[in-house]
Amino acid sequence: MEGALIARDKVGIQDFVLLDETTETAFLDNLKKRFEKDLIYTYIGTLVVSLNPYKELDIYNPLQMELYMGVTFFELPPHIYALADNAYHAMLAELNDHFILISGESGAGKTEASKKILQYYAFSCPSTARLNSVRDKMLMSNPVLEAFGNAKTLKNDNSSRFGKYMDIQFNSEGEAVGGHILNYLLEKSRVVHQNHGERNFHIFYQLVEGGDEALLRQLGLEKDCLYYNYLTQGECAIVSSITDKTDWKTVKNALKVIEVNESDTSDLFGVVASVLHLGNVEFDPDSRGYASLNNNTELRWVSTLLGVSAQTLQEGLTFRKIETQNDQVFSPFTIDHAVYVRDALAKAIYGRTFTWLVHQVNESLENKDETKMAVIGLLDIYGFEVFYVNSFEQFCINYCNEKLQQLFIQLTLKSEQEEYQAEDIEWESVQFFNNKIICDLVEERYRGIISILDEECLRPGDATDLTFLERLEEKMGNHPHFVTHRLADITTRKTLERGDFRLLHYAGEVTYCVVGFLDKNNDLLYRNIKDLMCQSKNAIVRECFSTMDPDSRRRPETVATQFKSSLLKLTESLLAKHAWYVRCLKSNESKKPGQLDEALVRHQVKYLGLMEHLRVRRAGFAYRRRYDVFLQRYKPLCPATWPHWIGLPMDGVEVLVQHLGYLPYEYKMGRTKIFIRHPRTLYATEDAFERC
Ligand code: ADP
Ligand code: MG
Repeated sequence: MEGALIARDKVGIQDFVLLDETTETAFLDNLKKRFEKDLIYTYIGTLVVSLNPYKELDIYNPLQMELYMGVTFFELPPHIYALADNAYHAMLAELNDHFILISGESGAGKTEASKKILQYYAFSCPSTARLNSVRDKMLMSNPVLEAFGNAKTLKNDNSSRFGKYMDIQFNSEGEAVGGHILNYLLEKSRVVHQNHGERNFHIFYQLVEGGDEALLRQLGLEKDCLYYNYLTQGECAIVSSITDKTDWKTVKNALKVIEVNESDTSDLFGVVASVLHLGNVEFDPDSRGYASLNNNTELRWVSTLLGVSAQTLQEGLTFRKIETQNDQVFSPFTIDHAVYVRDALAKAIYGRTFTWLVHQVNESLENKDETKMAVIGLLDIYGFEVFYVNSFEQFCINYCNEKLQQLFIQLTLKSEQEEYQAEDIEWESVQFFNNKIICDLVEERYRGIISILDEECLRPGDATDLTFLERLEEKMGNHPHFVTHRLADITTRKTLERGDFRLLHYAGEVTYCVVGFLDKNNDLLYRNIKDLMCQSKNAIVRECFSTMDPDSRRRPETVATQFKSSLLKLTESLLAKHAWYVRCLKSNESKKPGQLDEALVRHQVKYLGLMEHLRVRRAGFAYRRRYDVFLQRYKPLCPATWPHWIGLPMDGVEVLVQHLGYLPYEYKMGRTKIFIRHPRTLYATEDAFERC
């Protein structure tokens, strides 16, 4: 097969490390040249840069998969399969855990990449008839979790609205024997509200569009998405690029594969339908203007589907019973308040059901009788997001991206340093922008934004979103990455609305609107509604509500704090594994094939730290190869090594490079690899190779 550098002018260079210059312009030129030829993958060493083509490329078929099996990185054109394959063989050889970090902003291609890696393993790993079922379950968990956890947003028609980390467990034969998924913070607010041009989670539309008549009748549903308040706020219930009807069939079939039994499946659809009905429950003012519910068919459907008393549900949605020592006080809700309680219930049912579903997948993927040797983890978590209005959800998502960037910095610096150490090579370090300062700003104990938010959430009395903002301004006012509205006028001349704060993230600045922060962070449900759900005849709902709040007297941790601890756990576990990276770039904002918006790509290259990464790779020695691989390729260039070198590959390489006239400062001999300082040296070798 052709080598790494052949015909580099026509298709660009396959590895950025070998670029003549490390300027951003050279980097972008190379990306562009390759993109025009539909070459969407390029390496920086062993990191894969992927540029979303927004069109189907014929590079993911079984023939291609076969081609990449057992091949070293540089023998074939860059491909995500090469990374998957190398991670796999490294795991088998080193008997240790690995993970693949897939990052990039929303719509850049992370989820597609993770699916392609999974498909590659499903195809390439050895398997037995029994293990084929593990493989199928792993593949089929995707359509199910995507149906319930993905939605159309302005950035992506199939945007993941939850974070996902999946371990694939292998035995010593390299067979995939099981798996485990961790899910992170589902964007529950989408259940009850969608911005213009966005949709609710796919499953709702799939059910309404795809469900057969008998099922819809049983669930009391109209066959019309436009009938449901929770489906129409974005005014785009039907989208031509989304195939709800066929997806529905896939999901139903996938549920069987992951062993959700009939009764659970029926309860699951009951939950989905009950949420739709809840959204159509409307309140009228009674004589005093308070919320009342008269003769509401929708409410009766909710009560039927959830198997709870309609009377108690109605009470729970319209007033609060407060027990005092020897009395009961009834506090009726205003209409707004009733809508709020209704929405909170819809979000809670849906969110908990999603977690239940992940548990279900895990149970079916659980490896019960094989010895697990090592894992490869796949991390596909929401990318950095900036919308016109950014809320608590974006705050959490962008914080998560800061953490991942921090992990990337720790790991790349660490592994580069370790490689030089292991090979006994001296090197100089390269300066990164270290975003730890922003992570601290958000998460530091007692002082970070999350702590301040939690304090406001716990403070009895008059705490509001605006008092939270005031606290932030008091405490963060001088922080270089925090901008208050007062400062904004002077420094950036862009005024912030009252109610906003701005963070200067590593990936750019984002203005957050504080409205809803306290509520979303508290995520409270009234006691009586919770109690009612615990009595539900719908087994999923009952299970979710009775097991998820084991100690109901204690105040649950806030959403942001839970998220923070789960990210901390994740990063700790990842730090102990060997990392591989896929950096996904978005080619344009309009999801069009063949279009490359240079400014957009440049911005991503910048904030993803790709230039720094490149510089780190080149700082010491741009190119490194195992002695045997290097010798195998270039041995025709020296009579002493051609056609065979008898002896250690290392000695053969030494003879070879001296014959080629390498100067002592141009290369270093490590323990197992040759390190070449500048790519030019290698170009000369490569040219000689082409001539011979
Ligand atoms: P992310 O998970 O980063 O938000 P996705 O992986 O969902 O983004 O990709 C968004 C869309 O971009 C996909 O639905 C698909 O249309 C397109 N896309 C992404 N990667 C590829 C690819 N490798 N080939 C073709 N199209 C792709
Ligand atoms: Mg995604």
